[in-house]
Amino acid sequence: PANAENYQFQAEVHRMLDIVVNSLYQNRDVFLRELISNASDALDKFRYLTLTQGDQYKGDDIPLKIELDYDKDAGTLTIRDTGVGMTHDDMIQNLGTVARSGTTKFLEALKESGGETGGGVEQIGQFGVGFYSAFLVADRVTVASKSPLSDDQNIWESVNGESEFHIYADPRGKTMDRGTEITLHLKDDCKYYAKYEKLNQLATHYSEFVVHPIYIKKVTEEEVEDEDAEEDEPEEKPEKPEGEEDLEVEEEEEEEKPKKMKTVTTETWDEVNSKQALWTRSPEEISDDEYQSFWHSLNGDEFSNATYWTHFNAEGNINFKSLMYMPSEIPPELKSGSVDQFTSGIRMYVRKVLISDSFELMPRYLSFVKGVVDSDDLPLNVNRETLQESKIIAIIRKKLVRKTLDMFKEFSKKKAPKEEDEEAEAEIGADGTVTETEKDEDDGPSPYLEWYKKFSTSLKLGLLEDNPNRKRLMKLLRFQTLKSDGEYISLDEYVENMKEWQDEIYTLAGADADTIKKSPFLAPFGEKDVDVIFMDEPIDEYWGGQIKDYESTKFTDISRENVKFKDEDEDLVKRREKAYKSKLKPLTKWLKKLYEASIMRVAISSRLGSSPAIVSSTQYGNSANMERILRAQTL
Ligand code: ADP
Ligand code: MG
Repeated sequence: PANAENYQFQAEVHRMLDIVVNSLYQNRDVFLRELISNASDALDKFRYLTLTQGDQYKGDDIPLKIELDYDKDAGTLTIRDTGVGMTHDDMIQNLGTVARSGTTKFLEALKESGGETGGGVEQIGQFGVGFYSAFLVADRVTVASKSPLSDDQNIWESVNGESEFHIYADPRGKTMDRGTEITLHLKDDCKYYAKYEKLNQLATHYSEFVVHPIYIKKVTEEEVEDEDAEEDEPEEKPEKPEGEEDLEVEEEEEEEKPKKMKTVTTETWDEVNSKQALWTRSPEEISDDEYQSFWHSLNGDEFSNATYWTHFNAEGNINFKSLMYMPSEIPPELKSGSVDQFTSGIRMYVRKVLISDSFELMPRYLSFVKGVVDSDDLPLNVNRETLQESKIIAIIRKKLVRKTLDMFKEFSKKKAPKEEDEEAEAEIGADGTVTETEKDEDDGPSPYLEWYKKFSTSLKLGLLEDNPNRKRLMKLLRFQTLKSDGEYISLDEYVENMKEWQDEIYTLAGADADTIKKSPFLAPFGEKDVDVIFMDEPIDEYWGGQIKDYESTKFTDISRENVKFKDEDEDLVKRREKAYKSKLKPLTKWLKKLYEASIMRVAISSRLGSSPAIVSSTQYGNSANMERILRAQTL
């Protein structure tokens, strides 16, 4: 319209829209999940505001609900909610002029996945830009919205491919008391979304755990007799079993005296998700599939399953129910390596009302854990800031962390499931005979290890951040070692297999296991069959510098000075050292002079094995590996 105000999309948003619009080979169904999830968020916000700020958001009698409406002839689909709505300025802010931090990240992720594979556009919601998925299926999108804070109802509109959007007063006037109505003018090849069956299938699939009722319009065409055309009403028949009645009536009547019929359409609204909240049900009656689909709804995608979960009822000072999941993949916000971008993955409910999805109910290092907490013991109308600081949250948080670590531990003991009809491995001997070797049940790759390799940095971060749980976390660590031949072992396994005289845990750090293996520091350990733990992650240097022992067995970095094998006759070692010292004095003197300020000292060492010389770190300075890491960081 002529009175419309035009606004440019922020540049990144426009770039993203271009990609979304042209995503032809992607799963476009996800738009519905995103728009329903926004509607549900808006309802949550409204409910929360009525409970906490009575005046402006006074609770009225309008029920909280989501409606999916469509017009087959016009080729439009409308998603309507009675949520918090948007004012004129909200629309400008939220829908296009301000870049959200996720926009750039999403663009990067799309580039990485080549834009065409499973992980592409489907992830859109995880980057906080789900609204724009509307353009996957629509040529034109109009959003009509009415906020309880304003008397105006406005329309936001944008046409596919434009670099701008338009805002104008809704020409229909005020059609809503509160809420938002998003109308999609479907692309030619997307008209099939304007159908009850399709919408029902998608809403059931993606949104079965949305806590607000979702209604889908159902249009039924019925042939009824045209009363105006017929004079005498047929008398009601005597009782007959229901169902069969209509058919017979029609048949009989058609034969005797044909009546004029006409087609009428009836509209009914079908509720899709009338299920009980999953976490309030008892674990015994919930199938793995149900747990996985709830995970998908929490995680906002459906191509990665949860690895494991824990569903429990905590009783004590504070009672609450909780369901928490271990994801199988590192979430995108952690992948980029910026852990400071902390977002909590736990949704907090009070009596099934979503209070917050941003409470810090998990420490930073566990931010990849996602789930829900529901407590009856909290007042609904408490303000978020006070609640975050309250003792109650601290208690819940402590319990959640404990339960999460228990879940990891339990999972770490799981064996790989045995394949059902796995064939025994056949080996062909040198003489041509075939021997069948029974496959050992414990042989499969440990599912925990597979998971651990992706999440180890987070767990190690916990060693630095979560003192009270340090011991539990250390038990979850796994390392490659000098003797493990590529396998990973726990600290407990290392300690169990120590030499009788050995009272220290030997470690050696480096960029990766292969590099560490080549280190000359290892030679004497190999010769003596003493195991050494490989510290191959940068973060190992940080916790290694702070944590001195594991269950009172000291860690010793073998690249530093002072490693002594206690199985040797100390006297003999000392005498031998003394003899060498005096014999090689001219050489050490000369070396000292040659390198001068770049070294601290030159010494005779008894731990070189077959290497003629090594450069080692002092006991308390930075290790060579740490120097390498620090150098890499400043570059
Ligand atoms: P996110 O939902 O992650 O915030 P979206 O791109 O899906 O990102 O939505 C952007 C913003 O637009 C939302 O944060 C919200 O402020 C606003 N919005 C979208 N849909 C609605 C709606 N149905 N009702 C009210 N506000 C909405
Ligand atoms: Mg959203």
